[in-house]
Amino acid sequence: MKIKSIAGAVLLSGILIASISVLSFRDSYAHRYHDHDNDKEAPQMHTEVPFRPSTMEELARFHGHLGPFVVLGSHMGEYAVTEYGMPRYFGVSVEVECPAVPPHACLIDGLMVSTGATYGKKNIHHTHAKEIRVIITDDATGASAAFSLKPSTLAMLEQWEKDDLPIPERGEKCFAMKSQDLFDVEYAPADSNESGQ
Ligand SMILES: [Zn+2]
Repeated sequence: MKIKSIAGAVLLSGILIASISVLSFRDSYAHRYHDHDNDKEAPQMHTEVPFRPSTMEELARFHGHLGPFVVLGSHMGEYAVTEYGMPRYFGVSVEVECPAVPPHACLIDGLMVSTGATYGKKNIHHTHAKEIRVIITDDATGASAAFSLKPSTLAMLEQWEKDDLPIPERGEKCFAMKSQDLFDVEYAPADSNESGQ
């Protein structure tokens, strides 16, 4: 009777361990391939959507208004694509450090439109931080571009706040400005990143 119950306990724990490992395997499997039906397809997905810069109307349509931060995010993403050939939609990761509330967090929406990295595809992430810093990475090569606002841009935004300039005007002014006048970029090519991967 005793031996029987020991054998039973061993068998039961065996079953338990087996089901836990199946469950955790399924869990990690689900994480890696989330909603995609074909597991082989997910890592190689790419886009056929041609690139062109967003218009002010498109940004406003997606975001709900044309504020300066959604425009700044859009400029950053478009700069990464046109200057550094960053992939769009798939194979790109965007890390956004900024205050967790609008207007600063509006940056995230501009980055989604311009890079195609989206909340739904899980390739854009936000970390709460006092200062704005955005890192756009090519998943395949590890090349990355890190953006931060120029002190002159911060001063300009502050001045508009003081002057109580209407928000759409701030957006329009940012839209008309050149990317290189708005932010500093540190580009790390593929090779220099390899050791850090
Ligand atoms: Zn906004």
